Amino acid sequence: MSCNNLKILLVGKGAREHSLAWKLAQSPSVEHIYVVPGNGGTAGMKKVTNVTTVVEDDFPSLVNFAKDHGVGLVVAGPDDAVVNGIAGYFEDATIPCFAPSKKAAEVEGSKAYSKAFMEKYGIPTASYKAFDSYDDAKAYLESVDCSQVVLKVDGLAAGKGVVLPSDEGEAHEALRSMMIESKFGSSGQSVVIEELLDGDEISILTFADGTGAFKSLPPGQDHKRILEGNKGPNTGGMGVYAPLAFLTSDDLRMIDQDIIKPTLDGLRAEGRPFAGMLFTGIMMTSKGPKVLEYNARFGDPETQTMMMLLAPECDLAAVLMACSTKKLQNVADNISVRPGFACNVVVAAGGYPESYRKGDVISLGECPPGVEIFHAGTERTPNGELVTSGGRVLSVAAHAPTLEKAVSLAYEGVEHVQFKDKTYRKDIAAR
Ligand code: AMP
Repeated sequence: MSCNNLKILLVGKGAREHSLAWKLAQSPSVEHIYVVPGNGGTAGMKKVTNVTTVVEDDFPSLVNFAKDHGVGLVVAGPDDAVVNGIAGYFEDATIPCFAPSKKAAEVEGSKAYSKAFMEKYGIPTASYKAFDSYDDAKAYLESVDCSQVVLKVDGLAAGKGVVLPSDEGEAHEALRSMMIESKFGSSGQSVVIEELLDGDEISILTFADGTGAFKSLPPGQDHKRILEGNKGPNTGGMGVYAPLAFLTSDDLRMIDQDIIKPTLDGLRAEGRPFAGMLFTGIMMTSKGPKVLEYNARFGDPETQTMMMLLAPECDLAAVLMACSTKKLQNVADNISVRPGFACNVVVAAGGYPESYRKGDVISLGECPPGVEIFHAGTERTPNGELVTSGGRVLSVAAHAPTLEKAVSLAYEGVEHVQFKDKTYRKDIAAR
C-alpha cells in the first residue's frame, strides 16, 4: 500500500486527536488531514482542516466524505466510534481504517466481557463478579468489605464509570446511581464489582495488526483522580509521564509476554483479531502486574505524551497504515522513541469532573521550546476568540532529556495558559 500523498480522515475532538494530527502532519507521506470535528487547536494547523459538515458518529456519511476526498487512511480516536463499529463501515468501503473491529473492541465496550475473556485466557486481573440485577449486586455488597471493592459500569462512561468507595454508604450510593438512577445510561444496566488492587498503575499502548505482530510503546503513568495525592473522584486522566524508571526491562518483557501476547492471541482465538491500538491499564501489585482494563484505541492523555516521545524519524502515518493492512512486521523497527522523557499536564475547567462552565475566553502565551499545547475542550467563536468548550480544556506536553526538566517545562507551559477558574494537578510525575 503506497503511502505517498496520503489524505487522512481523523475522527475525534480531544487533545489525543490534536496530538495525533500534530505527529501525523510531520509524516512526509501525509498530504492532508481532515479532522471530524476537530477543535480550536486543530483549526489553525498547517495541512489540517476541521470538518463540521459531517457528524463524527454518522459512519455512512464519514465513508462518503472519505470517498469524495480521496482519503487513503482513516484514524478513529474516540472509544464510542471504535466500540460502535466504525471499522466495519470502512472495511466494506475498502478504505484502510486504524480501529479494531466492533467484535474486537468489545474488550473495551463491556467490562463483563473483558473480565470473562481474561479469566478464560489466564490473563492476570482482579477477581470479580458481574451483575445485571440490582438486588443481587446489593446483596453481594452486603457480604463484603466495601472499602476493598471497586464498582464499574459495564459499558462506556468517559472514564468516569468506576467508583472506589471508601465505605459501605459510598458503595451502595454508587451502585444505586449506576443501576437505579442510570447516571451512565444503559452503560450501567450491568456492573462489575471487583477486588481493589494496590500498587503503581501504568498504561501500555500497543500497536497491533491482527496477525499476532505487535509493538508496545514505553510505559506511561496517568494520574486518574482530580486532586493532588490521588484524591477526589476519578477523571478521564489529568496527566501522564513516560517512560517509567521504576520498571525494568524484565518487567516490560514480562508484561508483553504474560499480558499483551495472550490478549492478542486470545482475541484471535475468539475470532476477534485485534488490529489497532490496544491500551492496557495495569496495576503493578506485589503479586505481579494485573490488568485493570483494556481500551481499544489511543488513550487520552497517554497519547499526548507518546506523540512527544516518538522519534522524529518515526513515520506515524506509515505505522498506522501498516497496522490497518496487516503489515506491522514491515514497519515495527520504525516505531522508535527519542531518548529522554515526556509528560503532559491536563488543564481542566473549574468543577470538572462534575459540572463546569463553558465559554470562558482562553489566552495562550508563547511557550518555551520543547513544549506543545494540545487542545481538547476548546473552540473558536465566529469572531475568532478561543473559548473553553469542555471539561478537560487542553494538555500541555513537553519533552526533555530528564524527567525533571520535562515536568518543569510542562508546568512552565501551563503558566502560559489562562482562563477563568483553570484547574490542574500540581503533582504530575511527582512520585
Ligand atoms: P478502569 O476504567 O477500569 O481502568 O478504571 C479506572 C481507574 O480506576 C483505573 O485507572 C484505576 O485508577 C482505578 N481502578 C480500576 N480498577 C481498580 C482496581 N481493581 N483496584 C484499584 N483501582 C482500580
